[in-house]
Amino acid sequence: MSGAVRWLFVSLLLLAAATFAAPVSAGALERLDFGGQRYLRLGDWARANQFDLTWLQSGKTVKVSNRNLSIVLTGDSKLMLVSGVGVWLSYPVMVRDNKAFIALVDLKTAVVPLFSPPRHPTTIRTIALDPGHGGRDRGFSKGSRFEKNLTLLLAQDVRDQLTKAGLKVVLTRATDDYVELPDRPVLARQRKADLLVSLHFNSAGEGGAEAHGAETYCLTPVGARSTNVQGNGGNTGPSPGNLCNDRNLVLAYLLQRSLVKNLGVEDRAVRRARFEVLCSAEMPAALVEGGFLSNPQEGNRIADPVYRRKMAKAIAEGILAYKRSVEPRPSPPAN
Ligand SMILES: [Zn+2]
Repeated sequence: MSGAVRWLFVSLLLLAAATFAAPVSAGALERLDFGGQRYLRLGDWARANQFDLTWLQSGKTVKVSNRNLSIVLTGDSKLMLVSGVGVWLSYPVMVRDNKAFIALVDLKTAVVPLFSPPRHPTTIRTIALDPGHGGRDRGFSKGSRFEKNLTLLLAQDVRDQLTKAGLKVVLTRATDDYVELPDRPVLARQRKADLLVSLHFNSAGEGGAEAHGAETYCLTPVGARSTNVQGNGGNTGPSPGNLCNDRNLVLAYLLQRSLVKNLGVEDRAVRRARFEVLCSAEMPAALVEGGFLSNPQEGNRIADPVYRRKMAKAIAEGILAYKRSVEPRPSPPAN
C-alpha cells in the first residue's frame, strides 16, 4: 500500500468510526467526490450495518432496509422514500458503475438518524406549539380567511390532544398577538420546552391554485442548499438549530408520516429550510405546512373544524411517535 493510499484508507476508517456507531468493515469503504461533496458508497455502509441492499431498477433505483424501515433512493435524485414517505436529501444520489453513492452529510443527518433514532437525554414532558403569524401579520389571506386564525385554532386542538396524552403544552401565542419570529424559540426555551413545532398553512404563487398536500420542514444542514420551493441560498453557515440536525429530521419525518397516513393528503415530503424559528431553536424543532389555503378545496377543508381536529390528532400522533422513538429506554431491573 503506497503512503497516499494508506493515508486515504486510514482517514476513511477514522471518518467512518467518527460518523457511525455501528462497526464498519475495514477495506470495504469506497468514496467519491462530486460537486465539492464527499460521497460514500451506500453498499459499504449497508453491509457494515447488516442492512439489505436490493436494486429495484438496475443502475437506477436502490432499496436499503432492515426489519423496521426501508429507504428507496434513485440516481441523480434528491428525493428519498422512507417507508413510502418522502424526505428530500441535500444532495442527489450518484450511481456510478452500478454502485450507489450518497453524500456523507445526507448519510449523517438523514439516513443514520432514521435507522437509529438518536436518544433524547431526558423524558419529553413539555411541547412548545408555535401558531404561525398573528396580530398585524395575517399570513396568507383570502377573503375573510386568515392563516393566523387557522394556525391558532389548529394549535389549540393539538394542545388538547397532547394534554390528554399527559404532556405539558406551551403556546408561543395564545391570542391574536403579533410575536416577533426570534422571540418564539426564546419563549420555548424559557418555558423549558423539549420540542418546538411551528404550525402554518401553505400558499402557492401565481397560477399554482391546484397545489395541495402537506409538507414538513426541518433546518437545512450547514453548507447545504435548502429544499423549499425557493431553494434559498444565502448564508449557509451554522445556526443553534443545527446542533439538533439528527433529531430535527426524525421529528419532521414522524410528523410528515402521520399527516400523510392519517389525512390521506398528497405527500409533499420532508424539506429543509432556514426558517428563523428553526434556526434559533435550541431544542429539536420542525415546521408543519398542513395544507394549501390557496387551493379552494383544501382551503375549505382546513376551515372545517372537524377536519382541523383530525389534522391536530395526526400532528399529536407524530409528536408522540417521536417521543417513543427517542426517549431513554427504561433500564432492565437489577438482579
Ligand atoms: Zn405561514
